[in-house]
Amino acid sequence: MKTSKEIGLHGSYTIPIAGLSDGDHSYDFRLDDQFFAFFQNPDILGGDVRVAVKVEKSSNSLVAFLNFFGTIRISCDFCLEEFNFPIKVSESIPYTLGMKPTNNDDIQTLPKDTVELDLTQDLYDIVVLEIPIQKQHPKDESGNPTCDLTMLELLKKYIIE
Ligand SMILES: [Zn+2]
Repeated sequence: MKTSKEIGLHGSYTIPIAGLSDGDHSYDFRLDDQFFAFFQNPDILGGDVRVAVKVEKSSNSLVAFLNFFGTIRISCDFCLEEFNFPIKVSESIPYTLGMKPTNNDDIQTLPKDTVELDLTQDLYDIVVLEIPIQKQHPKDESGNPTCDLTMLELLKKYIIE
């Protein structure tokens, strides 16, 4: 599990839990190049993803609603050039507060004395799931991939010769 403190100065991906009043609370996170570099995933070369977070807290539960919007930089499987892949995804993570773990594995439990909730690893995991199995430049209006043609020609040559 990676935490905000490991990411360093730019990264603050935590929700304060101690003293948080019941009701809705909003936070804004930004996943930048430094964030993605930290995880050293060769499939993600960088990115700029905004995460709008809404936390709904009650006396014994907490739900984090996460709205991701932005791009990550990945490299095309066909022409090998980098391109920006759009990320637009919504997730919610439910927690119970201060109760013994239930039989429901989907719900995590936050102990009563939790000071802050670190979402670093969760944010990363959600973005990783958005990476397509086949990574390719988006298609233009006529349905042709917007790949780097010079690079494609070079690769073709290289493969044939
Ligand atoms: Zn391409």
